[in-house]
Amino acid sequence: MAQVSCSFCGRKKNEVELLLSGIDAHICNHCIAQGYQVITEELNSKDDKKEKKTKLPKLKSIPPTEIKRFLEQYVIGQDEAKRSLAVAVYNHYKRLNQTVTDDDVVIEKSNIIMVGETGTGKTYLAKSIARILQVPFCIADATVVTEAGYVGEDVETILTRLLQAADYNVEAAERGIVYIDEMDKIARKSDNPSITRDVSGEGVQQALLKLLEGSSVNVPPQGGRKHPDQKMITINTENILFICGGAFDGIERHIAKRINTRPIGFSGDNRIIEIFDKGNLMRYVTAQDLKSFGLIPELIGRLPVLTHLNPLDRETLRRILTEPKNALVKQYSKLFAMEGITLHFDEEVLDFIVDQAMLCKLGARGLRAICESIMTDAMFDLPSQKDVKEFTMTLDYAQEKFSKSSMSLLRSVA
Ligand code: ADP
Repeated sequence: MAQVSCSFCGRKKNEVELLLSGIDAHICNHCIAQGYQVITEELNSKDDKKEKKTKLPKLKSIPPTEIKRFLEQYVIGQDEAKRSLAVAVYNHYKRLNQTVTDDDVVIEKSNIIMVGETGTGKTYLAKSIARILQVPFCIADATVVTEAGYVGEDVETILTRLLQAADYNVEAAERGIVYIDEMDKIARKSDNPSITRDVSGEGVQQALLKLLEGSSVNVPPQGGRKHPDQKMITINTENILFICGGAFDGIERHIAKRINTRPIGFSGDNRIIEIFDKGNLMRYVTAQDLKSFGLIPELIGRLPVLTHLNPLDRETLRRILTEPKNALVKQYSKLFAMEGITLHFDEEVLDFIVDQAMLCKLGARGLRAICESIMTDAMFDLPSQKDVKEFTMTLDYAQEKFSKSSMSLLRSVA
């Protein structure tokens, strides 16, 4: 009778240590060992793929009131913008946590656009909210983006940042939040787009539209066009929340015009504008004004939440100087404390700084520049004067340092 052999490798019974028999086949110990190895490798690679697909944890909802309270520690005023942002982030989380039910109701995302003068806290609001987010967040600048094929960056590179913020975890990036600054700079330059090529205007708006409306976008993981060989990563933007911001300089003119020509019976009457707060027309901004400013209607349609930031008045600037967690006065005190010096500001100095900031019209951004101009000499000299343990910033000292600085020139031009 013929000797039994392994049905897989053909080795005879005497050539192997073990031979198992099945119904009408045999398998030797070598083939079992090899089979086992193949099985473990195969299953492991499947597990890897599965791991990448595993569901990210549910997000812990933070009620809008709590988000707003958090923002209040950093950002002074701007109540409306805070409320809109808080609701948008809260709903974004809800959207991410939603399960598809029988009622076919799918919560759509509500991208936001914030309009407000420069230095009123748009970027700062976005940065502050990022501190409590449990999703990846990045800030991008619309001005560096140009239409594909022109010098500048492609719109997809905005998502490269998000991907980096998510540590290249595509799924995490796909539910992140992107803040796009300087949206006003990509407004259509003229009403007639066909005369000249508008590579950083309408073309970019069209490209942005693709991101905002939710589609699969091929993103260069290293960004830019410097690495043409890099393998693209596909990101679906359907669940990415976009928050846009811009100063929209001059939009008040469009608002005023619209308000004045509103067909409410006595059109053209100057009395109409009197019922509005003329000092802050930004409060009345609508999608129509953004369109008059030069944003294309399709893009505006993808930014359903429109909110504004108020110009900063004296009182708000004064509070910004001392109240927020990161207030400038607190920052300088900390810098001096690290030298072992206690820093005091006379109240009049704070008023002086605010006055100058109002004059140079740079919003809260002016505060920092003015502080620097009056503090630099002290910060230069004091570290080498070991016996100084206290420093009081007086009005005379501040005025003298300020008058010598370039900031004072800026003020006289403004
Ligand atoms: P923009 O509106 O031009 O984006 P930013 O948000 O960059 O202005 O503001 C510039 C700086 O001014 C911020 O870094 C922040 O320190 C300060 N700032 C502006 N607005 C506020 C505010 N409402 N409360 C506190 N700080 C503010």
